[in-house]
Amino acid sequence: MTSSSPPADSTPQLPDYAPVPEAALGPALNEHGYHVGRVERNLFSVTDGTYQSAFLLTSDGVVLFDAPPSIGHNLRRAVDEMAAAEGASNTVTHLVYSHHHADHGGASSLFGSDVIRIGHEETKRLLRRDNDPARPLPDVTFQDRYTLEVGGELVELAYHGPNHSPDNIYIHFPHHDTIMLVDIVNAGWVPVFNLNLSEDVPGYIEAPSIAQSYPWTHYIGGHLGRVGTRDTVALHQQYIADIQASVKQMLGTVDPTPYFVKYGANVWAAVQIYLDTITDRAAEPIMAKYTGVLAAADVKAFVHSTTFMILHSTRLDFGPSGPLHP
Ligand SMILES: [Zn+2]
Repeated sequence: MTSSSPPADSTPQLPDYAPVPEAALGPALNEHGYHVGRVERNLFSVTDGTYQSAFLLTSDGVVLFDAPPSIGHNLRRAVDEMAAAEGASNTVTHLVYSHHHADHGGASSLFGSDVIRIGHEETKRLLRRDNDPARPLPDVTFQDRYTLEVGGELVELAYHGPNHSPDNIYIHFPHHDTIMLVDIVNAGWVPVFNLNLSEDVPGYIEAPSIAQSYPWTHYIGGHLGRVGTRDTVALHQQYIADIQASVKQMLGTVDPTPYFVKYGANVWAAVQIYLDTITDRAAEPIMAKYTGVLAAADVKAFVHSTTFMILHSTRLDFGPSGPLHP
């Protein structure tokens, strides 16, 4: 071994973070690695600690809402467990896709070809494009609204425009006091990376307000362990609103002139350092305010990439993009 080779057993230097706030911790998992809990009456949520799905036990069979592959075969175990406890049928007859993403639908094929799959028409188009045998196409699609009635239970599906993905829908359980809206609010946690890897930033920012316009008490967000409340969603909205305000303040404070003078013809260097400086300064008070309040608010890359996307949406979607040339 030469002196320049790193030792084979070197331990990576890993940063430390603030403890996860009590309110963000999910339920303990069982020996199979899942937790199933009653949301209300015959509506249940399942989690592996990172992903969430839900199911409804009805007299005509089970309706599944998303099938995350990380929960995988535990979905079957969770359904069997609750169906046995309730003396209900464990036959899954319907599967609703919240949106087309593989991390929420990649265990769909485990439920075979007899299940009636339901999704937005854009979900079908995107799944056809993705051509993934793990996510069979929906048999039933809709454009704006669809009322699913199984065994006397009612579920209202609605599309209110693109947000996290172009096809993400609102799943309202009017008789279970519950809404399921996936990949928008992570109950008790900051969004991962750029607003949970969202494609439409104004749509993502608006989505919680649309959710709040429905009547419900329980919020199934598709991630982590907890089922949220209206306060959970309001805290997320405050977090995003604070980032928007911080970004606006920094856009009006940081003078771009020295950056462009310094880099001259290399305008991209000036743009990068100027906008990264705004992102840094805008994110700093957010991390200070929310560490200990929202889990992972001190995971800098998550706060930064979210702030960065809100900065660009503030400029490009809402305007102005910059000073108007005189
Ligand atoms: Zn997604």
